[in-house]
Amino acid sequence: MTTNEMLHVVNPATGEPITTLPAASADDVAKAAERARQVCDIGVWSRLPVRERSAVLLRLAALMERDAELLARLDSEDTGKPITECRTGDVPGAIESIRWFAEAADKIFGRLAPSGPDALGFMSREPVGVAAAILPWNYPLAMTAWKVGPALAAGNCLLVKPAEATPRSALHLAELAAEAGLPDGVLTVLPGYGREAGAALARDPLVEALSFTGSTATGRRILKAAAETNFKRVSLEMGGKSPQILMADALVHGDELIGNMIEAAFLTMGQNCTAGSRVLVHSSIAEEVLERFTDAAKKLVIGDPADPRTQMGPLIDRAAFERVAGAVDAARAGGAQIHTGGLPHGLPSRGAYYPPTVITRAPEGSDVLTRELFGPVVTVQTFTSEDEALRKANATEYGLAASVWTGELDTALRMARHIEAGVVSVNAYSEGDLTTPFGGWKQSGFGGVEKSTNAFDQWTREKTVWIRTR
Ligand code: NAD
Repeated sequence: MTTNEMLHVVNPATGEPITTLPAASADDVAKAAERARQVCDIGVWSRLPVRERSAVLLRLAALMERDAELLARLDSEDTGKPITECRTGDVPGAIESIRWFAEAADKIFGRLAPSGPDALGFMSREPVGVAAAILPWNYPLAMTAWKVGPALAAGNCLLVKPAEATPRSALHLAELAAEAGLPDGVLTVLPGYGREAGAALARDPLVEALSFTGSTATGRRILKAAAETNFKRVSLEMGGKSPQILMADALVHGDELIGNMIEAAFLTMGQNCTAGSRVLVHSSIAEEVLERFTDAAKKLVIGDPADPRTQMGPLIDRAAFERVAGAVDAARAGGAQIHTGGLPHGLPSRGAYYPPTVITRAPEGSDVLTRELFGPVVTVQTFTSEDEALRKANATEYGLAASVWTGELDTALRMARHIEAGVVSVNAYSEGDLTTPFGGWKQSGFGGVEKSTNAFDQWTREKTVWIRTR
């Protein structure tokens, strides 16, 4: 008998171990997939009347509400995210997702073809069977809920691999699902390493669909693994380098603009796929915006994530700190001006704390301008025309999100039309709500595959039925 590798969950704020658990091996993944296949074949979930599936998921949402404080604490401790962010954002958002998809489950209709008098052609939506989700660490519960909600509502059996650093909220969610009455084997959480458990899921011949959220580099590997094995349907949600575009009249939005810019840049310490890490501002207002934005960044409360007043905790680990600090140091050496942040002076020495950092005059092609740093670092660049703003906004291999600030509807519409991103918000930093699809273009992903009724496309496949009626 081989022993499993261990997974070490560490509190990023203190560096202290939280728990150690066995990591799922490739063999564990294969067994879980076989078990899920059997459960699919028995049909205890997929053939349950859809209202009954909804009822189980609604009970799950209610149990999450009961355990909301625990779930917030698990995610805050594992990620280093401020507890207030988890209490007010991640956990309520996750509960809402489960509830939304539970309620949407029986509103997904098939289609009828205009087949003529002698035949009836219709297209039904069927569960894929065994499905899998591979998740990132930055929104552990929220991302799990985005996958679990529609995948289970559609009648699949789902294997979930949380990120190495943050398995606990997904494990608790699976316990709550069992308590809610989800049949055994329908939802399996496999905490494990990407190179072992993640890679095994991507290659497993029984997994028919795999939804991945994480970095672009890993997404590429997963797509390749699927192509080399069973061509499972893969959907990818990956990184970003999103612009916040402030047109000449953006300051009509006053403090609301500055508050949104801060949230866009520094939520989850900038470790956010949609982080607005590139501010593009019309030169006529650049000075005032830079001053107000920098002042607001300086006021952010950095500290213990467990303290409800804390607005910024540590980065996820030392490697993240080195990546962020290295890119900022290189930009500084190349002539960039650092308006605030840039050095971890005066911050807690335990944990990988890095301050909110605002940079101008970043060298062309530098990492702070082009790479997804996944940290609290924002560059500010100016423009003098719409064309220049669009050119700079689109000068990235990513295309996840963008925001445009203006008082003019025409300008907003023109900009929104020409920005190459899956989600464009106007006069807000927002990914929309559950009714709107979410997803990135270009190397950020496969488009709006998450949230909304679009999410069911990931987890179902269409079947054509042709009936001769003569
Ligand atoms: P990551 O790619 O390192 O890891 C993501 C997941 O993939 C983890 O569960 C990991 O274990 C697994 N994995 C790693 N190697 C694998 C392999 N060879 N085969 C299969 N699975 C493997 O990403 P991360 O550091 O956890 O998360 C940060 C990234 O996620 C950022 O790039 C961020 O932009 C992105 N993200 C995107 C969205 C979105 O919706 N677009 C949301 C959140 C995070």
